[in-house]
Amino acid sequence: MKKKRHRKRRGKPNKRSRLSVNSLTTTNLRTANVSTTLTSLQQIAQAVAAASDLPKALEFIVEQVRSVLSVDVCSVYLSDEKTSMHVLMATDGLKPEAVERVKLQYHEGLVGLVAERSEPVNVKNASQHARYKFIPEIGEEPFQSFLGVPLTQQGEILGVLVVQQVAARRFKEPDVAFLVTLAAQLAGAIALARAKGTLIGLSHKKSSDKQFFEGVAGASGIAQGYGVVNYAPIDLESVPDRSVSDIKAQESLFLSTVSRVSDELRKLNRNFIGILSDEDRALFDAYALIAESDSIVETTLERIRAGNWALGALRQTILERVQEFEAINDPYLRERGNDILDIGRRIMHRLSQRELFRSEDYPQNTILIGEDLSPIELAKVPPERLVAVVSGRGSRYSHLSILAHALGIPAVVGIADKLAVNLLDGHRLIVDGYRGRVYVEPNKSVRKEFSRLVREERELTKGLQKLRKEPAVSLDSIRITLHTNAGLLADLTNSLQVGAEGIGLYRTELPFMVRDRFPSEDEQRKIYRQVLKAFVTFPVTLRTLDAGGDKALPYFPNIESNPFLGWRGIRMALDHPEILITQLRAMIRASEGLDNLNVLFPMISGVEELEAAIELLQRVYEGMKAERRPVRMPKCGIMIEVPAAIYQADALLRRVDFLSIGTNDLTQYLLAVDRNNEKVVRLFDSLHPALLRALADVMEIGRKHGKPISVCGEAAGDPAVCILLLGMGTQILSVSASDLPRIKWVIRSFS
Ligand code: PEP
Ligand code: MG
Repeated sequence: MKKKRHRKRRGKPNKRSRLSVNSLTTTNLRTANVSTTLTSLQQIAQAVAAASDLPKALEFIVEQVRSVLSVDVCSVYLSDEKTSMHVLMATDGLKPEAVERVKLQYHEGLVGLVAERSEPVNVKNASQHARYKFIPEIGEEPFQSFLGVPLTQQGEILGVLVVQQVAARRFKEPDVAFLVTLAAQLAGAIALARAKGTLIGLSHKKSSDKQFFEGVAGASGIAQGYGVVNYAPIDLESVPDRSVSDIKAQESLFLSTVSRVSDELRKLNRNFIGILSDEDRALFDAYALIAESDSIVETTLERIRAGNWALGALRQTILERVQEFEAINDPYLRERGNDILDIGRRIMHRLSQRELFRSEDYPQNTILIGEDLSPIELAKVPPERLVAVVSGRGSRYSHLSILAHALGIPAVVGIADKLAVNLLDGHRLIVDGYRGRVYVEPNKSVRKEFSRLVREERELTKGLQKLRKEPAVSLDSIRITLHTNAGLLADLTNSLQVGAEGIGLYRTELPFMVRDRFPSEDEQRKIYRQVLKAFVTFPVTLRTLDAGGDKALPYFPNIESNPFLGWRGIRMALDHPEILITQLRAMIRASEGLDNLNVLFPMISGVEELEAAIELLQRVYEGMKAERRPVRMPKCGIMIEVPAAIYQADALLRRVDFLSIGTNDLTQYLLAVDRNNEKVVRLFDSLHPALLRALADVMEIGRKHGKPISVCGEAAGDPAVCILLLGMGTQILSVSASDLPRIKWVIRSFS
């Protein structure tokens, strides 16, 4: 059997792999043009990403690389942290029985050298190299030349990809470059396939002691519960697998949906009589035939019978078919893959509308999971059921994390590179929002340990609650005002509970995001009035709409390649004065008879912008006065979050009553670090000297004008930053309600 495999691979493609082995095998890299090479790279990476488990993925890689590069051997070694060994995991060309048996110490052999140096090692006569290690059972004696490249993901070595040749030669530059490019693409896919394998193993064993996946700590806290994947049928890959017991019901639902979709397609054909040519109209019939074909229907039914629900089974089938088409090098046939995708989405959409799939009933202890969860999706889950969130994308400073933090639930974000999150559906999980870890199917002792931590956390919070009525005064008697950041009505209760002395930042975006149109003046007025009344003896700072960036309005689509540098905050609002005017009217009307409204403009980058905003505010106020409404001109301030505003703080502060420093955006723009991007989150440094300098400078300008400066970004809730802010002479901090007790304790403990 092994011999047969070898013979087959010498010249001919492996039949089992239906991908474009033909094109790949005949492509000699040195003669390949750029696009062919790119296609090969993409095809290999895609196929690996879709492989059902790690061994299959690795086997595919070694076959394909060997074929594309026309080399005699290709092997993959993966590094095992636990044993500090590089393990041969797949080979095409060496002895197959050596797989998983041959292990090299971290610093052993040429493979160890590649990992150690994190760079390619290209050797003409491997056996003569000082680092060569002879391994009798691997069968590499005939192969003289060796090229190894590291498989690296986010600075971590996952393993080594090796190619070997009988002939003693140094590999040419383009070959090295190809292998390096391929390895860079494969590392991520290998990590995901590894995670998939681990998860499947865990499902069978049903528990483990320390199996966790590490992402980014989004919001602190610990929670235990069950994963519920938030999926969108239009985004096929987000649909999870789910086991079902009523297989018959799934089968019949699937079959009736397919027949409904085929009927719809045939009807489209008839609708276009006299509009489209017969030939064009025939396309719809062809689509209907594809929808009903055995390769879609039978394959999906088989998967349903194996226990998956119809949506998951259909996803697997469609992706499999699409891949087969994509691997074909003929552009016309490749395009047919898109047709299958369209048809698949159409059936998915219809299926997900059917009764059986309307599972919006989230279980108790729901851990909401999604590839790129937005604050809206989080807000859809009944708060009493939601205990944690896990998002494939995002960082600590994404609005999803900020919202989770405000709700007092843990979040782990930016985990997409470590695992495909839709695999977490239905699993028992522990979310550790302090360390950014998700434990899957934890065993009893792990669960017990985390329950203990949760109890301790509760005790600590209880202890801090004793400070509720105490003032935030430093050891040397400096009084600090502690406000909270809010955006939900639930935040108000939490803020009152922790003894906040006002709302320093009320983010008004959420009511705009959860609707399918702009909220009316009266709808807004009611919300703002509730906030103002809840804190009637304290100041409440309502920020005008800061849409854009990662807070898109579904009914106001705006595609930008750089949304955070684009049409955001005050820029959008000034381009649509009708929206800003309505909001300002709602705010001022909400404050009738009250005297605690502050208005805050976001994303101000210059004096001209500010003057335009103030003019609108003035106009709205004058208009209401003319209507004889009992209103007062609110205090007006701006957010300092664009670096330009630091250097104009003096000119800006002359025109307003106060400044509020938004460290989330200020850090993002000052350090050029996307606040949502998990890949650069470690560079998002709230203690960066440039940020501290900026904060100190703005404080100084505030002192000069005798006007208040508050800090309202997440950094204000970080004890280390808080101590430095005290040193800079801060008087007001606005933090999330869950951070307030701890920050008060810090203030009371330092001079
Ligand atoms: C900030 O940028 O620091 C801020 C408080 O505003 P947001 O997080 O809503 O952008
Ligand atoms: Mg901001």
